[in-house]
Amino acid sequence: MLRQYNDNTPQYFFYKEMHEKQHLNFVINKKKQYSNLNNIKMNIHKALSLMDSFVDPSDPDLDVPNSIHAYQTAERIRKKYPENKQLQLTGLIHDLGKVLFNFGEHNWTVVGDTFLLGCPFPKSIVYYETMKDNPDYNKYTDNGIYTEKCGLDKLNISFGHDEYLYQVLLQNKDKHNLDSKYWNIIRYHSFYPWHTGNDYHQFMNDSDKIILQDVLYFNQFDLYSKEDDTVINDSVKQYYNDLLNEYFPNKLQW
Ligand code: FE
Ligand code: FE
Repeated sequence: MLRQYNDNTPQYFFYKEMHEKQHLNFVINKKKQYSNLNNIKMNIHKALSLMDSFVDPSDPDLDVPNSIHAYQTAERIRKKYPENKQLQLTGLIHDLGKVLFNFGEHNWTVVGDTFLLGCPFPKSIVYYETMKDNPDYNKYTDNGIYTEKCGLDKLNISFGHDEYLYQVLLQNKDKHNLDSKYWNIIRYHSFYPWHTGNDYHQFMNDSDKIILQDVLYFNQFDLYSKEDDTVINDSVKQYYNDLLNEYFPNKLQW
């Protein structure tokens, strides 16, 4: 993904607020809150349609609805891997955790690159200088509250659409047919300081190394829509509707 960020843009102020407000206790409480999902049942097709009216405030150069981004990501994958339906589906649904907006969450609890709480903040965090206003700034040294090779699953990563959709897929695992390999791609796709900045690698265990490869592999398809003129017409939408019917035949709890 081509990422260019400047000060005094809406993205700067978005990250400044996120970096002030997502501290360790906040993340622990959000994870606890969504360890039991809301009592809302809807099929994933409906969640996708909700993205028609959502524009992500953290993207530097995106002013199109997120549903277009969903279809375009999936189509880029389909062009290269016409047989890999699960990877195409992952492209289609990877950002559907943004339905958190409909549950009244602030945008800084939904979108944006994620970072780790409970240990020092690395300079690879976007707008790193705004981290100084985080209540946990300078609170931890070395590995903080974690131990080496503890595994990504043990980390308290800033809360957003990645972790939330992972929880939806996990807690509804009897109701869909998407393999867990793809849940992990979704769970860590915004964790840029890790997958692109190469920080936090001391916390990875052996299976996390495979997840890193999978995330980096997926990431090349998760581009901004302005970089792509892929046309989304009715037959494209029908193809994905059929895929969703095949892999997500039931309503999910959200
Ligand atoms: Fe995303
Ligand atoms: Fe995306």
